[in-house]
Amino acid sequence: MKDDTGRVTLVGAGPGDPELLTLKAVRALAQAEVILIDDLVDRRVLDHATPGARVIEVGKRGGCKSTPQEFIHRLLLREARAGRRVVRLKGGDPFVFGRGGEERDALRAAGIAVDIVPGITSGIAAPQAIGIPVSDRRHAQGVIFVTGHAQDGTGEPYWETLGDALARTGLTLVVYMGVAHCARIAARLVSGGLAAGTPAAAIQHAHTPQQRSVVATLGTLAAAIATAGLGSPAILVIGSVVSAADALRAVDGAVPSDRRARRA
Ligand code: SAH
Repeated sequence: MKDDTGRVTLVGAGPGDPELLTLKAVRALAQAEVILIDDLVDRRVLDHATPGARVIEVGKRGGCKSTPQEFIHRLLLREARAGRRVVRLKGGDPFVFGRGGEERDALRAAGIAVDIVPGITSGIAAPQAIGIPVSDRRHAQGVIFVTGHAQDGTGEPYWETLGDALARTGLTLVVYMGVAHCARIAARLVSGGLAAGTPAAAIQHAHTPQQRSVVATLGTLAAAIATAGLGSPAILVIGSVVSAADALRAVDGAVPSDRRARRA
């Protein structure tokens, strides 16, 4: 049965590797007439789109907004109202630091049907990419997903208030959008009582051919990131579980750990 009223599907594209797309994501892509795609989404996933699909880039690089959210909402509405099957492709999972909730609500408020296809979030997939079993119970009782910068992008006040509390939890911290603020975040956590020697890692472009990572300690992570020249998009992982990373089994100490990339 063909549905001629437009529909929007918010699709999680996973962390990069197209083989990490879900079957639902592949089907939605194959059926899409219009695809709005974020910067962070690996372009190889578009191989699943039909040649006739219109692809619109709505990039936001490194957490800064190059396409205002309002404009994206308007574009989604316009295309859906024109009766088109629209896919809004987002990196990782649409509901994890992806503004998927805001987009869904704006569309629903306008009477547009919205479907959601979850994706593998980078907060789980990036640690895994270097051998970190993120919630391993031998290391911690849980994992906290936290953004490295505040909703309005100012960063500071948010970590000023939360840093101490986070340091005290004893849980593994997974920081999205934190690589540019790493030095400040680490300093807050150390002043909040987390040992500077706590294992810590950064993984950039996880599950893509550009994947690179460093494994260090909370006290040395920012310097290790700078030395290795890592940048956004990257996930920071802080906690004892980082000691399970592949690099630490191979070599002792703070080392660049991306053996995959070196082999390639
Ligand atoms: N919805 C996405 C997150 C969007 S916020 C998800 O579920 O993964 C953007 C942040 O996600 C980036 O700044 C970075 O911290 C992280 N990120 C996304 N893809 C990544 C990747 N392949 N490798 C490392 N970090 C990634």
